[in-house]
Amino acid sequence: MIAGQQIIGFDYSAEGSETFYSYNPAEQHNTNYLFHKATTGEINLAVQKAAAAFQVYRKNSGAEKAHFLNVLAEDLLYTGDELIKVCNEETGLPPVRIEGERMRTVNQIKMFATLLSEGSWVDARIDTGNPERTPLPKPDLRFMHIPIGPVVVFGASNFPLAFSVAGGDTISAFAAGCSVVVKAHPAHPATSAIIGKLVQTAAKKTNMPDGLFSLLFDDGIDVGIQLVKHPLVKAVGFTGSYKAGKALFDIAVSRPEPIPVYAEMGSTNPVFILPDAAKERGQEIAAAYAASVTMGIGQFCTNPGLMIFQNQDNNFLQLLKTAFEKTTGGVMLTPNILDSYNSGVHQHLTTEGVEQLAISGTSAVDVANLAVPVLLKTSGKVLDNNPALSEEIFGPTGMVVSASSKKEMLAIAENLSGHLTATVHGTEDELIGYRQLLEVLEQKAGRVVINGFPTGVEVGNAMVHGGPFPSTTDSRTTSVGTAAIYRFTRPVCYQNMPQQLLPPALRDKNVLNIYRLINGDWSTKDIARMT
Ligand code: NAP
Repeated sequence: MIAGQQIIGFDYSAEGSETFYSYNPAEQHNTNYLFHKATTGEINLAVQKAAAAFQVYRKNSGAEKAHFLNVLAEDLLYTGDELIKVCNEETGLPPVRIEGERMRTVNQIKMFATLLSEGSWVDARIDTGNPERTPLPKPDLRFMHIPIGPVVVFGASNFPLAFSVAGGDTISAFAAGCSVVVKAHPAHPATSAIIGKLVQTAAKKTNMPDGLFSLLFDDGIDVGIQLVKHPLVKAVGFTGSYKAGKALFDIAVSRPEPIPVYAEMGSTNPVFILPDAAKERGQEIAAAYAASVTMGIGQFCTNPGLMIFQNQDNNFLQLLKTAFEKTTGGVMLTPNILDSYNSGVHQHLTTEGVEQLAISGTSAVDVANLAVPVLLKTSGKVLDNNPALSEEIFGPTGMVVSASSKKEMLAIAENLSGHLTATVHGTEDELIGYRQLLEVLEQKAGRVVINGFPTGVEVGNAMVHGGPFPSTTDSRTTSVGTAAIYRFTRPVCYQNMPQQLLPPALRDKNVLNIYRLINGDWSTKDIARMT
């Protein structure tokens, strides 16, 4: 039974009289799942409870937080088929993809539990004092990361599990020691309700404080805006469109107390094909590109929507055309996303100098809400005159740009704005010859991929899923991988703090057995007392 009520800590609430149903995009009708929109009273209660819970939860040990996350991961793993069925109804995503995403979400939660159990993530730094130093005594300084406070998370439409209620943003905030209020994405509220109940149950089972987690519903933007403006909220995690991410960022920085918004807003993820690679592996590259652009109906922020190649080899265009014609389209997540896709492709196609290079065989299928993959082509010169052509169209499309020379390819790279990823295909010798291109790209993207494709983001310690604006609102961070935890922490330094008042991570005796930077050297040693 799916409860269409707000989850506020350990309670449910359905105060509001305004309701909405979720939508089945494949069958184009409402589902039977009815949701109440959160009221201002419910928003206040959720945030107040989150602020109170934060004061308790932030003091929990790494082991206690890891236990909570591990219980949640196990419960999610064994939550059964209802989740898959409901998520399929609400998103049109195939069950096999949802199963895979559930596994990814489970592994992501366990990864953060492991990070907490090990403990060195707090980045403890100790500069021991010297009262005898002249002319001034040297203070004892001890640094570590502490949680920032209650966090608001906006679930993403395109990853209903891995970037939603118990997704990367929520889990990295929990790992940091923060309480979380999630605004469910209106494209999958029933899926969100199932996961929300799992989080609530795991928190209860592991004696976490009431209010550590809340889940609010709305099919408009009002609840989200109120949450970002709430004075007790200290940070925001968001994945979605540039329009929404930038709007939330602007609201957050104009508050009396500005707060960080970590918005991941997608990009076109340029792929550069160097001439010898096109000659040697043209067919393989064309097939892999077509597969990457159309994977998941192109609904990935790492979708490689821009390809730049040097046009000495027209055969490569033919290979791309052939590969793309073999692709298939599919149902998109929401009617709005499909409309934006169709109008984006239309807009690009009506730009002078842009042509359709290929269309998928799906174009023959007569299904009203089907997204049809389309590959477009243009020249470097046209791109230079129409920067809008390098903006993201969310869906299964790409723009193939022919550059007349290495110089023009470099100029295209120089003119790029910020992206999540940039990719280069080249032979070993070519890559060395194009070192300058790589040096430009590392300044434009969060991840530089060599001889691969950017879709399929690996979750791990070394991943960066972020990038310069406008791909995100803060290029210094990542929303995937363990480093995502630092979005929800801040460093604090204790000066001359008595031992018994220091957090365990910073005491002379290394009770947590973590790595610490002691007077410039990393070690797990205790600090010997001078007296
Ligand atoms: P969206 O429009 O960015 O919406 C994401 C969330 O933000 C939703 O909960 C939405 O609420 C809320 N929201 C939207 N505008 C807002 C505003 N001005 N103030 C406060 N909250 C706001 O994303 P979407 O609906 O998932 O998809 C629309 C487009 O986003 C896609 O076509 C695609 O271009 C892009 N997108 C990008 C990524 C990515 O990976 N970066 C992922 C998904 C989508 P309501 O829906 O209730 O308005």
